[in-house]
Amino acid sequence: MKVLVLNCGSSSVKYQFINTENKLVLSKGSIESIGSSSAILTHQRYDGDTIKITGEILDHDLAIEYVIAVLLSKNHGVIKDRSEIEAVGHRVVHGGEDFSGSVLITDTVIQTLRENIELAPLHNPPNIKGIVACLKHLPDVPMVGVFDTAFHQKMPPRAFLYGIPYLLYKRYKIRRYGFHGTSHLYVSKRAAELLGKAYDSIKIISCHLGNGCSIAAIDRGISIDTSMGFTPLEGLLMGTRCGDLDPSIPLHVMAKEDLTLAEVNTMLNKHSGLMGISGVSNDMRELIKTMNEGNERPRLAFEVFCYRIKKYFGAYIAALGGLDAIVFTGGIGENSFEVRKEVLTNLEFLGIELDDEKNLIQNGDRIISKDSSKVKVFVIPTNEELVIALETAQIVSELRKEMSNKS
Ligand code: AMP
Repeated sequence: MKVLVLNCGSSSVKYQFINTENKLVLSKGSIESIGSSSAILTHQRYDGDTIKITGEILDHDLAIEYVIAVLLSKNHGVIKDRSEIEAVGHRVVHGGEDFSGSVLITDTVIQTLRENIELAPLHNPPNIKGIVACLKHLPDVPMVGVFDTAFHQKMPPRAFLYGIPYLLYKRYKIRRYGFHGTSHLYVSKRAAELLGKAYDSIKIISCHLGNGCSIAAIDRGISIDTSMGFTPLEGLLMGTRCGDLDPSIPLHVMAKEDLTLAEVNTMLNKHSGLMGISGVSNDMRELIKTMNEGNERPRLAFEVFCYRIKKYFGAYIAALGGLDAIVFTGGIGENSFEVRKEVLTNLEFLGIELDDEKNLIQNGDRIISKDSSKVKVFVIPTNEELVIALETAQIVSELRKEMSNKS
């Protein structure tokens, strides 16, 4: 099935057009700076043909029209008619407690997404705009919503409740949701495949380490705990986000520095994490470079980053009651052998033995633990677009089957 995968952000639309039968990306691209007269469309076809166009694209509706137009383009496109787009898969950030899996998008689903806007005020509105635009430009094409939060929806209450009045959970849905669900699902399933074991028979810790970072404890196919919480601010140290924090700190800083709610929010989301500690960069490559030149604060940021991952390993091994595999993914997880080494050092007593040579190999799905290691350690490049395309194809195929049974 040929599926258009869309990831609509506040000022950008990223897309991939994927043939799910052979997993080939027929074309992919993005539109950045939507809402301005200098929006940039970048489009790449499977054969390497690339174009870049700058122009006025004022809203998501027009952006989606451009995406369809470029897929249809005589010189750079891959389809002759829009009916060749068989389904659209939308990445949706927050499904709240309403979605524990991907769903066919209906009017009711759109209404429920609108009701969940409060939980993700920055992310869900552009996701909804993308869905509404597709309804207009591809009215006969089935659409599926794939949620970042869905994979974690089976967490037990002991993992998702916070130690605040229960009333606040009931009234405002304040609880742990977790994010990066499609990524954790993809890499953990792939790890099971590489191990040659059934997904529902093993225990995995999955580490998504990119600009945003999260870690998940996956017990026989179920995410039983994860580090991101009510929002993607909790948990591991990230590029510019603080991660776990004593909740009284923001209150104290607000009082001391006379900050508003918006200002303290910006501080925790944009000026903290690796950037905040190092004062140099939120980019791990830059941080490691300056650290190796002998700079103290980049080293501190690196150490806090890795130490926190290690601490979560301890917690999640206890929560899982054992461990078969650890998976690293995301820009840092896939590329930084330095981070992987720091995180995995001195864990032999837990049956985790890193192979230093294998750890240096770059690219592809790979195993980096020693043959003797009881716990296998994998590096698996994430592929969220492929997961969205496959989920979409599965749901649409089931729908087609149902319809043909009825007729
Ligand atoms: P992502 O959000 O998954 O694109 O990941 C972005 C992060 O990956 C940034 O912190 C980059 O510095 C980091 N990254 C990418 N390549 C490397 C590399 N070769 N070594 C270390 N970090 C890297």
